[in-house]
Amino acid sequence: VAVAGTTRDITEMRQLSEQKDEFLAMASHELKTPVTVIKAYTQIFHRSAQEANDKQAAALSLKMEAQIDKLTSRIAELLDVSRIQGGKLHLQEKHFDFNELIDSVVEEIQRTTQRHQIIRRLTTSKKVFGDQDRIGQVVINLLTNAIKYSPQSDVIYVYTKLVNENQRDRIVFSVEDFGIGIPEADQERIFERFYRVTGGNQNTYPGLGLGLYICSEIIKWHGGTIWLENKKEGGSIFSFSLLLKK
Ligand code: ADP
Repeated sequence: VAVAGTTRDITEMRQLSEQKDEFLAMASHELKTPVTVIKAYTQIFHRSAQEANDKQAAALSLKMEAQIDKLTSRIAELLDVSRIQGGKLHLQEKHFDFNELIDSVVEEIQRTTQRHQIIRRLTTSKKVFGDQDRIGQVVINLLTNAIKYSPQSDVIYVYTKLVNENQRDRIVFSVEDFGIGIPEADQERIFERFYRVTGGNQNTYPGLGLGLYICSEIIKWHGGTIWLENKKEGGSIFSFSLLLKK
């Protein structure tokens, strides 16, 4: 009886977990369309306000757009999670210049912050085989986190290093910040789905705890590794490695 009960429990749990994944996929799809439409309406509203020289309405609609963008990226995270869970993260792989990707992402993110300065220390350009957009997404995520969790410091370093592991050349990309850092007790679980550091002033930062999980899955799907280094002097270094073109 005990064995039968256990089997039934496992089956029920599996069914529940499948239902939860289906719900996540469905809910995020259903949310995506109306949010896209609201964004389009807000942009029309913003243009009308500008034409009517209504400064208050123009400023408010810009704020609305910024909030809609946040919502859109949360929904995108949920959609990515359901793709990963369903084994449907289809990669569009090709050879691309790694440094060119880093340069364009750094320039894009630098435009979003006045306070922080992102400093590049890149080795010679190398070709990587992978999904350029997805790897760009990982870099954006690591940089956005470095900015978000560095309220008191303003320098962020990004660098690349070439290493040879098991007779294969790899590129290691790192983002180093001097921000609030991650307590040692949390470091092991930081790449888990929905995992967020709690306590201290960590609770004041918004987020779902999905970004690093998605990053680690994207890197794993490329056959790479991603890790976090402990910094005694404060701050964090996130790195990932990818195989270089043979
Ligand atoms: P979130 O959307 O919550 O930021 P992430 O998966 O990107 O989710 O990060 C998980 C948690 O790891 C964050 O909630 C935060 O506590 C911690 N974290 C991530 N990056 C950094 C960083 N650069 N410095 C300090 N803490 C970080």
